[in-house]
Amino acid sequence: MVETANHISKLPGNKTSIFSIMSKMANDHDAINLSQGFPNFETDKKLKSLVTQAMKGGYNQYPPDAGVLELREEISKKIQSLYGRSYNPDREITITSGATEALYTAITAFIKPGDEVIVFKPAYDSYEPTIKLNGGVPVQIQLTGENYRVDWEEVKKAISSKTKMIIINTPHNPTGSILDTKDMKELENILTRTDIILLSDEVYEHLIFDKNEHQSASKFPGLAERSVVCASFGKTFHNTGWKTGYCVAPDHLMQEIRKIHELTVFSVNHPMQVAYADYLKDPKHYLELSGFYQNKRDLFLNLIKDSRFSFTPSSGTYFQLLNFSVITDEKDVDFAERLVKEKGLAAIPVSVFNINKKDNRQLRFCFAKTDETLEKAAEILCKL
Ligand code: PMP
Ligand code: GLN
Repeated sequence: MVETANHISKLPGNKTSIFSIMSKMANDHDAINLSQGFPNFETDKKLKSLVTQAMKGGYNQYPPDAGVLELREEISKKIQSLYGRSYNPDREITITSGATEALYTAITAFIKPGDEVIVFKPAYDSYEPTIKLNGGVPVQIQLTGENYRVDWEEVKKAISSKTKMIIINTPHNPTGSILDTKDMKELENILTRTDIILLSDEVYEHLIFDKNEHQSASKFPGLAERSVVCASFGKTFHNTGWKTGYCVAPDHLMQEIRKIHELTVFSVNHPMQVAYADYLKDPKHYLELSGFYQNKRDLFLNLIKDSRFSFTPSSGTYFQLLNFSVITDEKDVDFAERLVKEKGLAAIPVSVFNINKKDNRQLRFCFAKTDETLEKAAEILCKL
């Protein structure tokens, strides 16, 4: 007898990602797509020609499973210069198929049935299903206030003998909030003398605004010794479709992560890694990003300043939340759908990432777009 889908499903109730849904809706209705987070401008042609060169140079077979050594060496230098911690390229850095694989691999390497993992809500949508797939239990904590801050007292209360891992994400998707030095020190104090692993999703480390500095877990010794830090070249270098990222962690954690990495993908596309190794040699390529995206954020916010949306400027990422409660009483999911179908503009409803789908009447807009696209989008928003 054929079993019902629910019976055989390991993730019953898990729906198609909102990013796929909204991008498809945007395509179907020929709408401007500010929903899924990806740039609509080209990656640097210098980087593309480095990939072509690598392909022509014969880098077309499996690279080492941990990644091209030269790239791992460049990552190690970059982290040392930005955050002051030394990671051994041979044993503590692994190139992954995007940050998605790094997150999946890190959770799968450590979470056993019954383990609890603290997740801050709203949360990026890959964390909780991966925890559940491994039999773990997500323990949700709501970020609070207009700026979506962490209440560290709540974190202390949520920690139990079963807590195996805490996942943080700074700069934060979808809210654009960031953790500051005080937050990281609080976390460091809380985790001292525990065995809790910190999974730090830092894919937007180079997209941080208003002279704020990114506070990487690798900067704080008490955190770095227990942390897996995940990063994404796709986000940093405007090529999300190349699906290349990495994670760094102390040796004893990384050896476990590599076991899962070998089983899931074994290794990651070779020519891209050779190209990134060369491209990373010039720090300008990532240090100029914050200014570039801050200009985009400011352009977008300036264009909609007379609209009926209200907002707190994003502190990092390439996302901006806009509150629409003055415009309509609709649920955010319904408003987002109507915005695509009737007005030709796609955004992400934030409730899908919240505890119990709490609706704060906010949509997330991606401003990693050409100025022309942002102008067209703003024109629509200003008419609402
Ligand atoms: N974490 C966060 C917070 C993200 O927004 C994304 C989306 N890019 C990822 C992880 C996954 O990154 P990648 O595209 O490199 O797999
Ligand atoms: N990180 C991207 C976002 O938040 C989307 C990634 C994806 O499509 N899974 O929009």
